Amino acid sequence: MNTEKRSPLRIYCKNCGAPAGFDILHQTYRCPSCGEMTGIREAQKSVYEWRELQKKNTEARFDGQRLEEHDYP
Ligand SMILES: [Zn+2]
Repeated sequence: MNTEKRSPLRIYCKNCGAPAGFDILHQTYRCPSCGEMTGIREAQKSVYEWRELQKKNTEARFDGQRLEEHDYP
């Protein structure tokens, strides 16, 4: 557990894993330690994948503790 400390709102370098900073001039994310560029599209994709993962996790959790469905008045 707790191996994923990455924040979904932060963009990380796909090359070395360091937090990337936004390069306004080039309109892209750029890693300060190795200079690898991470495009906005890639960044958005990683956020999207993270959301999908959360969705799956939530569904799995609900599956584990599914309550019996009754119709309460
Ligand atoms: Zn890097």
